Order: sequence, then C-alpha cells, then structure tokens
Amino acid sequence: MTEPNPVRTTRPRQVRPRAEGWTQRLDTDGKPLLQFAAPKRGMPPVHLADLTPEQRVERVKELGLPGFRAKQVEKHYFQHYTSDPAAMTDLPASGREELVAGLLPHLLTEVRRLETDRGDTIKFLWKLHDGALVESVLMRYPGRITLCVSSQAGCGMNCPFCATGQAGLTRNMSAAEIIEQVVRANAAIRAGELGPAEHADERVTNIVFMGMGEPLANYNRVMQAVRTMVDKDHGLGMSARGVTVSTVGLVPAINKLAAEDIPVTFALSLHAPDDQLRDEMIPINSRWKVDEALDAARGYFEKTGRRVSIEYALIKDMNDHAWRADLLATKLNERGRGWVHVNPIPLNPTPGSVWTASEKEVQREFVRRLNEAGIPTTLRDTRGKEIDGACGQLVATEEDRAVAASVPVD
Ligand code: SF4
Repeated sequence: MTEPNPVRTTRPRQVRPRAEGWTQRLDTDGKPLLQFAAPKRGMPPVHLADLTPEQRVERVKELGLPGFRAKQVEKHYFQHYTSDPAAMTDLPASGREELVAGLLPHLLTEVRRLETDRGDTIKFLWKLHDGALVESVLMRYPGRITLCVSSQAGCGMNCPFCATGQAGLTRNMSAAEIIEQVVRANAAIRAGELGPAEHADERVTNIVFMGMGEPLANYNRVMQAVRTMVDKDHGLGMSARGVTVSTVGLVPAINKLAAEDIPVTFALSLHAPDDQLRDEMIPINSRWKVDEALDAARGYFEKTGRRVSIEYALIKDMNDHAWRADLLATKLNERGRGWVHVNPIPLNPTPGSVWTASEKEVQREFVRRLNEAGIPTTLRDTRGKEIDGACGQLVATEEDRAVAASVPVD
C-alpha cells in the first residue's frame, strides 16, 4: 500500500522523534542499539513463585518437611499476602523459620511511595536484592483495581521517548519479583492504604505489564508469573482476561504467546501505522515492521479468540495526523473486522518538548475517524501521570536513587 504523503495533507507539520536530554546508544551500523540479552548479573534467590507446584513440594522435602507443607505456605503467600513466619501458626514451630526462609526469601524493599491526593493511585518504588530499582503503580477504578507491573529492571528497546529505555537493560526480573509486586499491592489494599474499600475482599483484579521493561523480552519468567497469577489452586487465582501482556512488537514472541493455552489480553504498542515514522519511534521496528507486527496481532486473535488492543500514544504533530488515523483503520480493516480495539493515549504534556500532547480537537478527530471506519476506539485514561506513573515514565529519578541508597535491603 502507498502511504500518503504528509506534505499534501491539511496538517503538513511533521515533528520527527528524537531523544531529549540524553543520547541514544547506537549499534555498529549507527542504528539505535537493541539489547535482547540481559547483562550477566546475579538473579535473586529462588522463591516459591519461581517454581511449579511440583517443584515446590520437592523444595519443601529438601528443607526436611513433608511435601504437603508447600500448600500451606502457598496459602499464606497467595491468599493472606504474608511472608512472615510468625503469622503461619499452622506450620510446626520447629523448622518454620527455615522453611519460610527457604521458600519465601525477601525480594522487594519498599524505598518510597507516592500517592495522589484522592488516594486512589499509589506508585511504589522497589529496590531489588542487587540494588536495581523498579516501580509499580496501583490504581483504583470503579469496580476494579489495576496494577501496572515491571518485568525488567530498565529496558533494552531504546525507544527515544521513554524514560525507562534511556538507561538500557539492567537485568531481567525473576517471576517471583513480578509476582511479589502483586502480593505487596494486595497487602497494601487489605491494610486500607488505597482509600476506602468497596468491599471486604478487595484485591488487584487487573494486571497490565506496562511498567518498566519489555515483557516479551523476558518471556519465560513473565509466563511463569502469568501462570501463577491465573492458577486457582496454587497461585493468585486471577482471571486470564484481567491480565494484559503488552509489547512493542517482538513478533516471534507474540506468536509463541498465541500458542500458549492462557488467553491473556494482548496489547500491541504501535504508536505509528507507517514504517517511516515507526522506525524512528520504536527501534524494534527495524527488525519487525508494522505489517508483521499487525499480522502477529491478528494471529493472536485467531488462536485465542481474544480481541487485541492497539496502544497508540498521541503526540502533537508527530503521529496524530488524520491521514495516520485513516491509514491505521485501513491496515486494521484489511485484516478483518471485530478483532481489535484501539486505545489512543494522550501523551503527558511536556511544554517545549517534541514529545507533547496532541490538542484536544486533534485527539477527538483521530478517534472519530477510527470509529467511523468501524474500529472500536476509546481514549485511554492517563491516570498516574501526576506522579510520573504513566506508561513510559516509570524510571527512578536522581532523588529516588538518593533515597534508595540510604535504604538497606531487608
Ligand atoms: S517504551 Fe517500553 S519498550 Fe520502549 S524503551 Fe520504554 S519500556 Fe522499553
């Protein structure tokens, strides 16, 4: 398909993506560096949530107790959100400390938390065992509670608009470090820290993998975490459709995800329908082009029957042109009807930056064109932006680092 020439449209201005205040690292060909392999760094001690139910039983036996004790520890951790041996009075006092230390090693130390005035959003900054910093954001909406989790410390995808990508990839997070973010959030909810409860058994109902990191670049650990989230007997027992795995477009991993038997919600962070712009905005596009990513997304729908989400950050004069809305609609409709939903997200305004929010009427026109073309489209909430917790902004600040340096790992 020929892509329209923006020069001949009614909105001729085309702002080009660029990194601001930092220099994008380049590979030997002069292209933005993509890091798939994590630098060799010590992973945390093995935790219950890193293991399959069978492996947990084996681990308990190795620790000198009968295998059925594994189920009791699972219940304390996944249902009561505790790793404190003193609270586990159904376990024999003798050997309890050792058992819990062997199954539930300490993983996340809370460094600081920021809350909105209304108290319905909390951003947690966590320090990992090796000092790496990651964040998660907990948000209460009417009828649901969403947690945005991190899956890597840093990120190797090097998107020029993203604060997380600037520092590169520090390391992959373990499955248990991902799960622990949910357990700690549930503990905070239970303690009444996310404002008044709507009902007694409140907990996180929705997970979005939109914090730090590219989840599909840490595939096996993310999938172990997802399996634990949805496991009703040995995990958190969440609904798979409440878990959203997002990616900037690692096509082979999308195909692999489609072949798993876990119908999570899948989101593709597209941000541009044309390769010319997307090559600059999302460096992974130099590997897998827009059409390949959309074909893989369509394949996900075909395999799972789950409608796919397309995430699209609306950026003033960069990707918010009417012709791009039309091109996106054409590309989605070429692949069939009823398989996709588009979520444009107004970018956080940063006056003077090339990355600034689209004007309101431009946002509305973008949404209108897609809807008119038969693509269900809704502007997404940018909750969390007042505490820098919106997607692509989850990065520790200098102040965070200073606070973290003074907090010992428990
Ligand atoms: S936008 Fe996502 S994929 Fe790109 S650098 Fe940031 S965290 Fe990584």
